[in-house]
Amino acid sequence: MYFLRRTDVNCVTNWNVPLVWEGTFDPIVIDAIYKKTNPRVGVMIFAVGKYTRFLKGFLETGEKHFLTDFRVTYYIFTDNEKEVPAIALDEGRKITVLPVPSARRWQEVVFGRMKWATITIDKQIRNETDYLFLMDVDSLFHHRFGAESFSRLSAVLHRGYYKNTERVHFPYERNPESRAYIPVGEGDYYYTAAVLGGYLEDIYNLVRYCYEHSEEDARNNIEAVWQEESHLNKYLLYNKPTKVLSPEYLWSDYTKIPADIKVVRISQLKKNYAEVRPNGGH
Ligand code: UDP
Ligand code: MN
Repeated sequence: MYFLRRTDVNCVTNWNVPLVWEGTFDPIVIDAIYKKTNPRVGVMIFAVGKYTRFLKGFLETGEKHFLTDFRVTYYIFTDNEKEVPAIALDEGRKITVLPVPSARRWQEVVFGRMKWATITIDKQIRNETDYLFLMDVDSLFHHRFGAESFSRLSAVLHRGYYKNTERVHFPYERNPESRAYIPVGEGDYYYTAAVLGGYLEDIYNLVRYCYEHSEEDARNNIEAVWQEESHLNKYLLYNKPTKVLSPEYLWSDYTKIPADIKVVRISQLKKNYAEVRPNGGH
């Protein structure tokens, strides 16, 4: 029995959309509602350079926990098609591999996600998908990630800043010359760029915005402090998400699990940054 009430966390934003936590929805009821329209779901993941090693775990655990019983296409952007593992997928689920160039800097990959997402939606995905998610590949699913995540634009609270953090301490881009600039005193939340979803056209508007604005910065020799995540946070400040997902939807193996996180749905793996990234470091 679900009581569908939490008193220890905020379950609604100040623009009155749901903030989703375990214990605030009935998973059976919400899946049944969305199953009626049988939406086509796309998930974009990038596996460039050594990150192809993360595909197997991501896909295998995704099959166990991510929108099971829904139609899902994993769009895998990679520079090494041969490294895409053969995974047994459930009925109605498939993998589409899309070639992208290799990178010399990891920053090229993370910015490049917005570019390739924009181009590929225009070329192909628009005709194939109703809901589109973007996710980091260096993670595993551990628990249900279901239809409660669906909305026009759903963003995930960054685990590092959701609790007891005043907005002046959010790591927004503070350089007024950058297109990602957010003045001190503004901001709702700090969102992660590692999990994101929504209606195809809403995600398209978002990725295109991030792509164009980071290109504009690059022409001025500026790179925002947290790359595409900085532009994403700027976009979401002025285009509010229609649903906010708690950090259950992206935790990290580096971070201790506090009492208000009742389940971890996805967790980022620990990784050796120096070894896995083409130009090392953070
Ligand atoms: N990525 C990739 N190759 C790289 C660097 C990044 O494929 O050389 C992709 C991959 O999907 C990864 C995402 O970009 O999950 C974000 O980078 P990363 O996970 O390293 O950033 P972090 O989560 O550590 O900030
Ligand atoms: Mn990551």
